[in-house]
Amino acid sequence: MKVNKAGRECPAWCDTDHENGLSYTCSKNSPSVDAGNTHAWTWADLPNTGQPEAGVSAAGEAAVTLGFADSWSARNAAALIEGLAGFSPEEHREIAAHLRESAAQAFGEAEAG
Ligand SMILES: [Zn+2]
Repeated sequence: MKVNKAGRECPAWCDTDHENGLSYTCSKNSPSVDAGNTHAWTWADLPNTGQPEAGVSAAGEAAVTLGFADSWSARNAAALIEGLAGFSPEEHREIAAHLRESAAQAFGEAEAG
C-alpha cells in the first residue's frame, strides 16, 4: 500500500514519489501537449487536507491554470476545449477578447485583468 507523507493511503492514480519528494499532495499529470512555444497538460490532485481537484494548465508567454473542484465542472471545461477545436486562431482570439469584455462588464475593468 502506497501512502503519502501524512500516512494516508494514496488513490490508485497517484504517481507522486512521496518517499523521495516533499509533497503531501497526491497528484498525477497528463503528458504535455505542445503547440509552438506553448504547452498544456491536465492534472488530478488530492491535497492531504482538502478535496480532490482536476484541472488544466497551459504555459508559454503566460501561465494559466484552471482548477475544478467537481467532476461536472471539469467535464464541462473539457467539452468547451473540445468544442473550440473547430475554431480558427483568429476566432479563438475573438472569443478571448469577448470574454475579457464580458469580464470587464461583469466585474469592472480593474478585475478583468
Ligand atoms: Zn499519493
